[in-house]
Amino acid sequence: MEEKINILYKGNGTKADKVIVIDAGHQHRGMTEPEPNGPGSEVMKAKVTGGTVGNFTGLKESILNLRVSEYMRDILLAKGYSVVMVRESEDVKISNIERAEMANAHSAAVFIRVHANSSASPETSGALTICQTAQNPYNGELYGECRKLSEIMLDVFCRVTGMNKCKIWETDTMTGINWCKVPATIMEMGFMSNEHDDRLLNTDEFQHKAAEAMCEGIEEYLNSK
Ligand SMILES: [Zn+2]
Repeated sequence: MEEKINILYKGNGTKADKVIVIDAGHQHRGMTEPEPNGPGSEVMKAKVTGGTVGNFTGLKESILNLRVSEYMRDILLAKGYSVVMVRESEDVKISNIERAEMANAHSAAVFIRVHANSSASPETSGALTICQTAQNPYNGELYGECRKLSEIMLDVFCRVTGMNKCKIWETDTMTGINWCKVPATIMEMGFMSNEHDDRLLNTDEFQHKAAEAMCEGIEEYLNSK
């Protein structure tokens, strides 16, 4: 079967030169083989994990991420942007380095990595975004743009969806960020370990709203430049 990965959809009109690369986080099966978590790094991490599962709904995170990403694709195309889908199938094998390199190869105006979270504390709830620190040895020069993108995305996401706002998490441990040469953020839409978030994330209505919110955030970020 042909893997549905790295699929380019050309936009129409004046916004078509802006390519939004959407990475629906994870995939059906993780890949445990190690890869360096940054260019030249000796720290190795698994190529990609299978993601979490809703504690109350049983919904697989990778499936949730893909559904929301596909809604985003349709909304962004309707607005005229070009879109690259890192994957459109569960049955793929794409490491986190490969995901970042797809975004680099397309000179992404925004690389959005769509995820949902999990915590050992069942009461932890809400959305957060993730970017590198200003001291990141691989792409610290992108910190300003990534921080701004992460702030706008989180603000708009929580405003539009009503999701509780957690924080922006700055970390240099994310392979899929460390290899980026373009503005990137990870959106953690909610905690699948929290009953409220998990049940909400499992509704088609919220998945649509989440997609609309992220597309609005992307547009606001691009308009701020
Ligand atoms: Zn995830």
